[in-house]
Amino acid sequence: MKRIYIHVPFCISKCAYCDFYSIEGNELQELYVSALIKELELRKSEKSGPLKSLYFGGGTPSYLDKKILSRIFEYLNSIFSFEPDAEITLEANPENIDDDKCKTWESFGVNRLSIGVQSFHPDDLKYLQRVHTAEKAISVLKTAKKYFSNVSADLIHGIPGADDQRFVRNVKILSDLDVSHISMYSLSIEDRSRLKRLIHNKERADIDEEAQAQQFILAAETAEKMDYKQYEISNFCKSGVESKHNTAYWKGEPYAGFGPSAHSFNGAERRWNIADLKEYISAVESGTKYFETETIGPQEKYNEFILTRLRLVEGFSRQEFEQEFGADKFRKILLKTHNSPCFLVSENRIAFTREGLLLSDALMSELMEA
Ligand code: SF4
Repeated sequence: MKRIYIHVPFCISKCAYCDFYSIEGNELQELYVSALIKELELRKSEKSGPLKSLYFGGGTPSYLDKKILSRIFEYLNSIFSFEPDAEITLEANPENIDDDKCKTWESFGVNRLSIGVQSFHPDDLKYLQRVHTAEKAISVLKTAKKYFSNVSADLIHGIPGADDQRFVRNVKILSDLDVSHISMYSLSIEDRSRLKRLIHNKERADIDEEAQAQQFILAAETAEKMDYKQYEISNFCKSGVESKHNTAYWKGEPYAGFGPSAHSFNGAERRWNIADLKEYISAVESGTKYFETETIGPQEKYNEFILTRLRLVEGFSRQEFEQEFGADKFRKILLKTHNSPCFLVSENRIAFTREGLLLSDALMSELMEA
């Protein structure tokens, strides 16, 4: 393993739209970290040289006490070494970022902070049931910039009630604050989310997909004018600060995930941990099975290639495609794409156009094998 993901399953409170595995409160963090370290210990034979990236996602990693995070880093440093330019990302929410925490994270080696801003408008934050205010987000972004040159912010577009200009303003604020990386996600209504029920009960307005797409186009154009380059469907950055860890996912590289609900991929097999903290702790501590596995067959491998590589603006090269799936298949995919305004097709590369990126879900489905 050269890339590690650690899932931190605690949040101050659950946002309406969320379907990531997390629980409210961090009372179980001591038990969590003991089980997490045990899982790392159990799997240390998967180590294969210095780590290229380490990513703390969640949940809310910034909600962990400093002492708890310190135990995780102590253990990691005793087992692994890091490449000199290894990327170490910590996801953080505005309500638990301050000078003291930033200093501590920096001392642990964190060199990239990814902050869940979502919007700078109070109505959007209320709709999403976020616990921070717009003022707080601006203030912690300024704090974060004192310690980290590589700061990313998440934004959500297509929130009912928001006009196009509101989202464009969000991007401009991030640019003014010199944030180096922006992830722009469409609001989606996930089955397991509270938002789904709220919309069903008419307590929240439903999303309008056309308005969402329009907002995204305007925001993408604004971001580009401000020197952010789009490198993936939802991701924009200043020169040279693409997320190395996430780009590795999209390029099909192996990674190892630890903690409840974390996924791993070793090139041939996918593995996922129990998505329940108490069950995860009890299984890891008692030595019983805490994960499921699945072998990836040729068809699934092909479909995953389409689903991940085409997310990248650079798409994929003929050479890498043919190495995996052969020249015949490349010719077939060429036939399906070469006349479409949604694809940039050359002898050696296939990628989406901006129009294609907007319709990516449907277009990928057409290329996938049933
Ligand atoms: S969106 Fe993020 S902060 Fe909100 S509940 Fe989900 S994981 Fe926690």
